[in-house]
Amino acid sequence: MEEITLRLEKCEKWTEYKNMMNKTGEIVCPECKRKHYVNVDQTLNISVNQEKIKRKKIEMALDNISRDNLLLKIDEHFDN
Ligand SMILES: [Zn+2]
Repeated sequence: MEEITLRLEKCEKWTEYKNMMNKTGEIVCPECKRKHYVNVDQTLNISVNQEKIKRKKIEMALDNISRDNLLLKIDEHFDN
């Protein structure tokens, strides 16, 4: 999750999601040398970012499902 890149509102640079995680309001831009602020909530609300976050969540959910199924199959195998 943290490795997905997000488009920053204001300067339109790309940053990793981990730079925004568990943060709200204004933060110092993690990508620019010139100090300025970006709004975490607005950045997360940009549609391209929403899309990326949703996509990643779905991927993670699918990963979990297939892993659970696999464990279930292994269990079944050893029970018999
Ligand atoms: Zn910036």
